[in-house]
Amino acid sequence: MRCFLMKLKNKRIVVTGGAGFIGSHLTSYLLGEGSDVLVLDDLSVGKREFIHEDASFKKIDIRSNNLGKVVKGFEPHVVMHLAAIHYIPYCNSHPEETFDVNVMGTRNLLKALDNNVKFFFASSAAVYPPIKESCNENLEGPIDIYGKTKLIGEDLVKLNYRDPLIGRLFNVYGPRDLNPHLIPDIIGQLQKGEYKIKLGNLTPKRDFIHVEDVCDAIITLLKQDKTGTFNIGSGKAYSVSEIVDLIGKSFSKKIEIIKEDDRVRIVDREVLLADIEKIQEETGWRPKIKLEDGLGSI
Ligand code: NAD
Repeated sequence: MRCFLMKLKNKRIVVTGGAGFIGSHLTSYLLGEGSDVLVLDDLSVGKREFIHEDASFKKIDIRSNNLGKVVKGFEPHVVMHLAAIHYIPYCNSHPEETFDVNVMGTRNLLKALDNNVKFFFASSAAVYPPIKESCNENLEGPIDIYGKTKLIGEDLVKLNYRDPLIGRLFNVYGPRDLNPHLIPDIIGQLQKGEYKIKLGNLTPKRDFIHVEDVCDAIITLLKQDKTGTFNIGSGKAYSVSEIVDLIGKSFSKKIEIIKEDDRVRIVDREVLLADIEKIQEETGWRPKIKLEDGLGSI
């Protein structure tokens, strides 16, 4: 496959949300490519110690009036926008705050930029409708406030940039996940010596992708100077029960599941699976880390 390669070496890159789970890994990848990285994060969820020591850091809320000055002062070539509120139960119980950060914060960031900057937006599989089949990039139909704010975010980005790059991330797992998602929740309970694991819905299937595969996909898209919307997932879905079995094998422990009604999500979908044909066809990228191997990295 022949394609134009954008060099990331010596490129000035802003990473919003760079103290968080995915942003901190992505920052390390970009530094590894020789980029000069400025992390912007309010540390509401992210941690200072997650930010690579070679990155510059400014503690700031993306809704701040001062954002434009900070971003313009760095003269970025690329902006990677990951700062968001994204733990779905929190979003459901804080809809105004979710809208304010995910939509108005994105708008504030876009207002602060020249439109010749390369812009990457971390969107989500939550923009898809609840269907049993895999989702391709032509679909949309979010069922919760989080997905709705991500879809509006995509629209704002497209209104400001003719050629933005949007990644619709599926269920990302790996070291440093700060939100109580399924995999860190189970592993956290195991690490406390609990082998009777308390869980909510057991049947929903999700497409889990390791954070290193996610960073590899984003860097591949960036280097190939791709524009448009791309699913970033593994193309395989596992149920909660299957995940519990795999984690049990990885920890060599027999896990017993206890279903707790107050952990059951009221709005849930049975299947959320990525169609990854587009990214595979257009870039040659493939997910490399099998779930059973990746679980051991946490
Ligand atoms: P995270 O919560 O670990 O990171 C988000 C970061 O944004 C945190 O460091 C937080 O402190 C920062 N932040 C939040 N509000 C802010 C504000 N107002 N101003 C400045 N910084 C703020 O989440 P993550 O899992 O790393 O997700 C990163 C991005 O990827 C998010 O946009 C999320 O919606 C998207 N995403 C994540 C997943 C996943 O499975 N983790 C799936 C789909 C999409």
